[in-house]
Amino acid sequence: MSETISKQINELRQQLESYNYQYYVLDQPTVPDAEYDRVMRALIELETQHPDYLTPDSPSQKVGGAALSKFEQVTHQVPMLSLDNAFDEAEFNAFNRRIKERLLHNDELDFCCEPKLDGLAVSILYRDGVLVQAATRGDGQVGENITENVKTIRNIPLRLRGDNIPAELEVRGEVFMDKAGFARLNETAAKRDEKTFANPRNAAAGSLRQLDPKITAKRPLMFYAYSMGVVQGAELADTHYAQLQQLKDWGLPMCPQTKRVTGASAAYQYYEAIMAERDALLYEIDGVVIKVDNKPFQEQLGFVARAPRWAIAFKFPAQEELTQLLDVEFQV
Ligand code: NAD
Repeated sequence: MSETISKQINELRQQLESYNYQYYVLDQPTVPDAEYDRVMRALIELETQHPDYLTPDSPSQKVGGAALSKFEQVTHQVPMLSLDNAFDEAEFNAFNRRIKERLLHNDELDFCCEPKLDGLAVSILYRDGVLVQAATRGDGQVGENITENVKTIRNIPLRLRGDNIPAELEVRGEVFMDKAGFARLNETAAKRDEKTFANPRNAAAGSLRQLDPKITAKRPLMFYAYSMGVVQGAELADTHYAQLQQLKDWGLPMCPQTKRVTGASAAYQYYEAIMAERDALLYEIDGVVIKVDNKPFQEQLGFVARAPRWAIAFKFPAQEELTQLLDVEFQV
């Protein structure tokens, strides 16, 4: 029995390691995200039922892929983590219950609700208001130095504006390609008989991780800020939403659909509203991210191995699973 479980767990881990390598390192996914999520869930379920087999190097405990050695490496002072997932209302409500119990808080919580942009996470460092470094998430601890590439993204300021600019500010957010830019890029590639990209996430990752920033500069990349890492020399607001407003005041672009709500049912309504709006949005999303808004509560809740306890990625049902797969097969 235990040998069978151990074999099953090992097979799932190997499968996920291979998907991770294709997706994070080569920017060439071989299966749709929904299939990846299914395999990950199967692994987590087995590891939960049989905790003796849980090891820290399991893909369920790790973030992303490795930083490519062709780039200089950057060690993140504060690790860049992933997010836990909820796939339906019951799982989202369980998240809400869990955190309220942990906080010993009976009232409704305030949540900051944001679209889950389908691109890649980057960290951008400003010293005395000047952009000095940018890095990918990598494995969460060490990322790739992509400073020159990030400087070519048109809505990222090279210099912050406004008052009370921190001596050091690390901004975190998503670099992505909007739907129109992605369509144009693939159209041009097809006309030139060049390889097309499987989806906007894949195109954004491939465009950002170029050794020649002149190539990145030609790609229609965009950025929305969604959090801060290291900050020195500034008073920060005590809610996540107000901190995003501070970033906006310093000139950083923020997703216009971000909204603060009170209580889990309002957050669920946000999820439904964004899902209804999904096709009309200018960029691809694969769900929404719901974050506890109160910063002291976030600190109290803390982190588990690969994700904060105070946030959840509430994913949409995989409606485009088949088309994505066809796209991927077309690309390979
Ligand atoms: P994730 O994408 O589920 O969530 C974390 C990421 O969400 C962050 O790193 C950030 O980049 C992003 N994000 C977007 N909007 C955000 C916001 N408003 N606030 C905070 N973060 C935001 O986790 P992950 O670890 O990056 O990737 C795992 C997911 O990637 C899987 O669930 C799967 O869907 C996909 N994946 C697919 C394959 C494949 O082969 N198809 C392989 C690996 C991963």
